[in-house]
Amino acid sequence: MVIGKDVDKAAGFIRNGGLVAFPTETVYGLGADALNPLAVAAIFKTKKRPTFDPLIVHISDIAQIEDLFEKPIAPVVYKLAAHFWPGPLTIVHRKSTLVPDIVTSGMDTVAVRMPAHPLAQELIRKAGVPVAAPSANRFGQLSPTRHEHVVKQTMEIDYLLVGDYDIIGIESTVLYVDNETVSILRPGYITAKDILELDRSITIINKGENLKVSSPGLLKSHYSPLKPLYYFTNDMQELPEKSGLILHQIRKTEPIAEKIIYTSRTGNLFETAANLFTALHAMEDNPAIDTIFIEPVPETGLGIAIMDRLRKATYRYSKTK
Ligand code: AMP
Ligand code: MG
Repeated sequence: MVIGKDVDKAAGFIRNGGLVAFPTETVYGLGADALNPLAVAAIFKTKKRPTFDPLIVHISDIAQIEDLFEKPIAPVVYKLAAHFWPGPLTIVHRKSTLVPDIVTSGMDTVAVRMPAHPLAQELIRKAGVPVAAPSANRFGQLSPTRHEHVVKQTMEIDYLLVGDYDIIGIESTVLYVDNETVSILRPGYITAKDILELDRSITIINKGENLKVSSPGLLKSHYSPLKPLYYFTNDMQELPEKSGLILHQIRKTEPIAEKIIYTSRTGNLFETAANLFTALHAMEDNPAIDTIFIEPVPETGLGIAIMDRLRKATYRYSKTK
């Protein structure tokens, strides 16, 4: 794998059917030409991602939805795209025949997003094709927010494009759009409140309620560190030996742990989202830590997306406790 900052070279790999890891404002993506089924198949192979888990197609120009979505495109799509793109919002809509089945796991809908990160935009523009990309980590593991996190996954990638911009640190909000109703399939940085502020008349159906589409990638266990991860509770004053603790605000008395990382000192959920995966990676990589504890956050606003990740990250360990 070549690691560098040469966008032209990275774009060349995409055009020739190769795999490129690249920064976005959410997490690092692992991209291939979305219109080349063999290139897309290589993403699933190197990630060990099950083929029932569809990919998000990344674009650099809103006009590309005309090729990817089946006509007629619901008017609400244009409204959402004009307001939230480029940005951390993924729109799922009926797909055109141009989109290969492997991208959508055989479904008749495709997920599309226009990332805000300048390097991601430049890469997609120079590649000249839409870029299918899941997060650049092995299936089920922690999402990468720094290029070092991609390196440690040891996947077969042609080029790792290194970015150094501020990031949101949490995956995009995934919305399914059907005429004038939208359903939140995966909570993310953009919340239901943000969407309603754009237009009060949009009907938002939450996942689970009367949902006509399922999002097969939304498994119970996901985003997991390789070390056991449990919730920290307020009665824990002293953690077991070799425990790492991730907190989101300063507490009156600091609990005793081998290592404490603060994602925020003030309970600021935007800071917590930006630092969440970085903190989990740091604990995963720290040889002095065997077990990780993490404080939950209030489940409002951005806290809904953060708790979605934590619930999935702790899931497999909570079963064996
Ligand atoms: P990631 O693994 O972070 O790239 O997340 C992509 C997620 O978007 C998938 O796991 C799915 O849950 C969701 N997704 C992608 N395409 C579709 C689709 N066509 N319909 C519903 N959900 C989708
Ligand atoms: Mg992922």
